[in-house]
Amino acid sequence: MKDKTNGKDGFGTLAVHAGQQPDPTTGAVMTPIYQTSTYAQSSPGVHKGHEYARVTNPTRTALECNLAALEGAAHGICFSSGVAATDAIIRCMRPGDHIVASNDLYGGTHRLMRQVFGPFGIESTFIDMSVSENVSRALRPSTKLLWIETPTNPLLRIVDIVLLSDMARGAGITSVVDNTFATPALQQPLELGADLVLHSTTKYIGGHSDVVGGVVCTSDDEWNEKLRFLVKSAGAVPGPMDCFLSLRGTKTLHLRMERHSSNAVAIAEYLDAHPKVGRVYYPGLAASQGHEIAARQMSRFGGMLSFLLVDERLETAMKVLSGTRIFTLAESLGGVESLMNHPATMTHASIPEDERRAAGLHDSLIRLSVGIEDVQDLIADLEQVLDTV
Ligand SMILES: *Cc1c(COP(=O)(O)O)cnc(C)c1O
Repeated sequence: MKDKTNGKDGFGTLAVHAGQQPDPTTGAVMTPIYQTSTYAQSSPGVHKGHEYARVTNPTRTALECNLAALEGAAHGICFSSGVAATDAIIRCMRPGDHIVASNDLYGGTHRLMRQVFGPFGIESTFIDMSVSENVSRALRPSTKLLWIETPTNPLLRIVDIVLLSDMARGAGITSVVDNTFATPALQQPLELGADLVLHSTTKYIGGHSDVVGGVVCTSDDEWNEKLRFLVKSAGAVPGPMDCFLSLRGTKTLHLRMERHSSNAVAIAEYLDAHPKVGRVYYPGLAASQGHEIAARQMSRFGGMLSFLLVDERLETAMKVLSGTRIFTLAESLGGVESLMNHPATMTHASIPEDERRAAGLHDSLIRLSVGIEDVQDLIADLEQVLDTV
């Protein structure tokens, strides 16, 4: 879409302007919510680029162009949710095809691969991808997709995108990076060699916990065609109001990510020094797994962190989870407000218990989505609740 950007503009300029121009009919500076299902044709087949809103909608097109620009991609394809975007990519597999994915990934991605696509003969292997030998060992002649998430959820492990996308390319395998945790403001997987990048725009891109959506960005024309065919044929499309909200979110993405990251660094350091806290998982801590790779492939370390309580009993975790004033106990992440989550019983409960424990998701593990509030208030909130256990 024509807009003010010139290809040399920085991220903040792209975030505000890419994919958008004042509305040609009214001059409205903000992209309108085109709440329509169909578009007038002057004679059969003669129209202004839109025929039916399942296929395209101008508010969605603006969002797709904006997100593609932020990821440095030629194409952005929006979906009604992050899992719908994931579903569309996996639907391009065929029975007998094999997927290699991280063992510490978004619970819904695991459920989709294992429980929805497994019965159709698409097999998935889940491994710790922070060790690259695990990946080479898991690859088979039938492997078609390498599903990377970094930082991982909820243990914030770091996977080397350059190394793994190189490995995938060498074996003729499509590499996908779920970039939901880092966002393009901090990490740009296509530039690092990945073929596809996926987001749950529900999280940092929307940024205000008021919309559900997903996107795939790619510069591969063939993948763009396959995914657009699925948008048209399977129809998991976001509504125009949802696209408008996501587009409003992207305008401040770079500013929010700075604050999320600086708050999270301060909280990680505070928790790391606390006697009632065991291990802190945050890629910004110098001693954490993958810190050096993270420093190379991310411009900041993001707003997500997890920690273990020294006291391993479930009841102690429950006390912490229900005793905060500012942190809200809830699923999801990436909004302006701080959230707290218990992976073992909430976001990752759909992973079988033995696999969950093997992956390190213990009962005493707590995940924080650090918001953009004043950091001293957030630390005081954690201090008062840790005093009670
Ligand atoms: C939330 C999330 C998803 C799924 O997205 P929805 O918008 O909830 O469907 C996928 N990956 C990651 C990392 C997520 O956090």
